Parts: sequence; structure tokens; C-alpha cells
Amino acid sequence: MKAPICEVCLKTDDILCPADEKKLQEGVISELDVKISRLLYKLLGDADIEFKKAVEAGDLVVIVVGEGDVPLTIGKGGKNIKTLMRELGKRIRVIESREIKGTNDVKKLTTDLLYPAGVFGVNIVYKPGGENYYKVLVLSRDKNKLPEKAEVLESILAQIVGKDIKISFI
Ligand SMILES: [Zn+2]
Repeated sequence: MKAPICEVCLKTDDILCPADEKKLQEGVISELDVKISRLLYKLLGDADIEFKKAVEAGDLVVIVVGEGDVPLTIGKGGKNIKTLMRELGKRIRVIESREIKGTNDVKKLTTDLLYPAGVFGVNIVYKPGGENYYKVLVLSRDKNKLPEKAEVLESILAQIVGKDIKISFI
């Protein structure tokens, strides 16, 4: 399993090696990344998957893994997710990482994350002063199908994409 911390740190439960401690101090990785790395390692061992990062907001933790790695991470019948939910006391969602280059990529990401609510489209909105953000359009009739409150999902998405994201109902 590939993770944001080294193999030695994956196998221990306490302190981090100096290199990984430095990454934590510099904010390259978070406490949550460390925690999830170690929990996943216990569940998945040397399985051929890559854990990229984890983000949280409200009661939701989103685990971002490499391309094609979602099924193995979730485990048979969702058994790994159930264990993580027990350990963390939060809801868990696993999504595939993707490079965000534009609205198409945001559409794919939000389609994964907001499921079973559907994503109608994604616009880029330019603010005066040159900054911009993504506006994710969800049909009003799908509002109750969102897996979490819109604000929680917006916070998760902003952490994944590194840019403001607004969910808008149409
Ligand atoms: Zn280490």
C-alpha cells in the first residue's frame, strides 16, 4: 500500500520519523492523513492500492485513493468502511483521485461525491478582481439525496480541489 507516510511509520502507532514529522509540521500532510494511513494499512497491508489523502468536514470523512483503487479500499460488502466508521465515529466515503484541470474534472469528482444526487453541470464563475470558483449545479428535486449537508460537501470539495466550490440548486 502506498501512503503519504513511509512504510516504517505505517507500521507503528506512535511517533513519526523525522521526514514525515516535518511533512506534518509543514502541512504537507495532516493528522487525519496519518491516522487514516495507519488504519488502512492495518486493513489492507501490502495490497496494491494508493491512499492519497483524507479530508473531513462535519460528520463526513472522504478518503481519496488512486485510480481503480476504490473497490479494494472499500472491501467485500463494505467491511473496511464499516471498520473505519467504527474507529472514527464518522461517515466514510471513498473516491478516486483525479487531476482537476477544469469543469469536466470537477463534474466527475462531484458526481462521485454527491451520489445519489445527480450533478446537472459545473460552471466556472469569475469574480471581479480575477478570482474564480466552481459552481456545481444540482437539481432541486435531488436536494434530499445529497449524502451530507451542502455546506459540508462544499468544505470537503474545496479541500480536495484547492479552490472554492459552491453547490447551487436549480
Ligand atoms: Zn516515516
